[in-house]
Amino acid sequence: MRCSYLISFCMLLLLTTSCKQSDTQKETSVKMNIEQRSFGNVDGKEVWLFTFENSSGMKASITNYGAIVVTLLVPDRNGKLEDVVLGYDKLEGYLEETPYFGAIVGRYGNRIAKGRFSINGQEYKLATNNNENHLHGGIKGFDKVVWDAETVEEGNSIGLKLTYLSKDNEEGYPGNLKVTATYLLTQDNELKIDYYATTDKATPVNLTNHSYFNLAGQGNGTILEHEIMLNADRFTPVDASLITTGELQPVAGTPMDFRTPIKIGARIDNDDQQIKYGGGYDHNWIINKQNSALALAATLFESSTGRVMEVLTTEPGIQFYSGNFLDGSITGKDGKVYKYRYGLCLETQHYPDSPNKPEFPSCILEPGKTYQTTTVYRFSTK
Ligand code: BGC
Repeated sequence: MRCSYLISFCMLLLLTTSCKQSDTQKETSVKMNIEQRSFGNVDGKEVWLFTFENSSGMKASITNYGAIVVTLLVPDRNGKLEDVVLGYDKLEGYLEETPYFGAIVGRYGNRIAKGRFSINGQEYKLATNNNENHLHGGIKGFDKVVWDAETVEEGNSIGLKLTYLSKDNEEGYPGNLKVTATYLLTQDNELKIDYYATTDKATPVNLTNHSYFNLAGQGNGTILEHEIMLNADRFTPVDASLITTGELQPVAGTPMDFRTPIKIGARIDNDDQQIKYGGGYDHNWIINKQNSALALAATLFESSTGRVMEVLTTEPGIQFYSGNFLDGSITGKDGKVYKYRYGLCLETQHYPDSPNKPEFPSCILEPGKTYQTTTVYRFSTK
């Protein structure tokens, strides 16, 4: 019989907040809750589902299989909670077939042309799983392994610290890579992800989260009515196999210009070469920023619910993927069918195929150095 149990505990934090109207100080108690239950077994290892809840009721359920965000319950403008990410009710769904729903992808998120690259004159050959290219870490990437998990508290935030050792030559990558991804649910309705890694041989690293968002609620229609803003003057165009050409192209005058918010559906079927290659949007934008400080990359808004999601990151790029490969063949949570463009991904990252593009910011992690990036998904309403 499968060992299944529930651990639930609450933390009462006393927070001192200033009350502007009366100009006095008042004490507020903040309630946060963590639950843990069995989600199944993979490779002889127990898989868990952790649920984190903050005092405004926002809830994130995360499993240590694939570091997957399984559900994300977020209030609308009337306080109604709805799950805004696509996924499965059960672990079996993720084991059978998933287009990377909610997972952390790696060792290298996005594509590496023909699965080949060289470091210091040595050529490496990776597993190829996207025609002749390598995508999201290969055949068995970080989305398909069991991570070690421990719950954490940081200030007013609660969450999950996930660790994984990716061994030398896994999917063809050089070096033993120790990876940590820490999810934190804050009191300000943010899901924050801190990524950290070290290696014993120089290796490419590019970690990102592959959640499919629909701010109207998962399974509730396409994302074409969502308004999106991408803080980017340029993007990295692709060829027909979705490999970056190496150019940095201005967005001005193209359907890739999202510098002011516009509905995703407004230009998605334009007669534009880049849109044709992507089958819609499936490109990397170069975030307008001078350094690696946390900066706003994207804002998403859904008018019927009022939900807003901002994406902030220390990374230089963001992949906006408009769910072009969803085709109604997947039935997800609550029996919802995920049709064409029912979800979108905003994957913060280094530019695609950067191991083969010396002109792009380097993604090579050297021994003795640390890989450290942060991405925040911040929810609000208007
Ligand atoms: C890629 C798509 C790919 C999808 C897989 C996205 O990150 O940009 O091209 O098909 O992941 O689900």
